[in-house]
Amino acid sequence: MSTRILIVEDEPALQETLAYNLQKEGYEVHVTADGYQALETARFWTPDLILLDIMLPGLDGFEVCRRLRREMNTPVLMLTARDDEIDRVVGLEVGADDYLTKPFSMRELLARVKAQLRRAQLLRDEIVRSAAAPAPQEILTFENLTINITRREAMLNGQILPMKPKEYELLLFLAQHRGQMLSREFILERVWGWDYIGNSRTVDVHIRWLRQKIEKNPAKPERIVTVRGGGYRFEG
Ligand code: CA
Repeated sequence: MSTRILIVEDEPALQETLAYNLQKEGYEVHVTADGYQALETARFWTPDLILLDIMLPGLDGFEVCRRLRREMNTPVLMLTARDDEIDRVVGLEVGADDYLTKPFSMRELLARVKAQLRRAQLLRDEIVRSAAAPAPQEILTFENLTINITRREAMLNGQILPMKPKEYELLLFLAQHRGQMLSREFILERVWGWDYIGNSRTVDVHIRWLRQKIEKNPAKPERIVTVRGGGYRFEG
């Protein structure tokens, strides 16, 4: 099925140029010059994009756009003739997706049309994807401690632990390497990045903060233990 574009424009010469150029690009077009007619056509013909002039007989383009927005998400590209119309077009009040100021080149118009169609397609794909697959929750559990990787949060006894992003990343990294001795240098490189300007003291400080949050007795840690020889091990 070809892509449909509704042209709402009352200047015959521009109607013709727009229709000709869009058809040449392979789009199916429908032309109307009247605001009320535009709403009707948008409802029954369900175009993929609407080119909308502002000064129109019947209902003006601002009002057409406002009413369209209540009913559909079809991208609306407005064609403005005066600078003072632009403020209203880009304002939230009207809700147009983009605008072009007359006179514009056909090349510019086609580029904007393509961009809007692409954006709408990405949104549709996104909606289909999220409807088809509710985000799987990836969760690591260690008794009363859970790490929800999807939500990037850790919970202790069902309570979310307030954490700085690096603390969370460190905890996740340790948990994903449960039982392994990890040197400070290795942790620093993997959690902070090899180009991080800091030293392994950074790791110790964050480990201390984590212990205060997840250990029963931070002075006698059982979950994140210090390994002789310069590292840490996550026990679970
Ligand atoms: Ca006009």
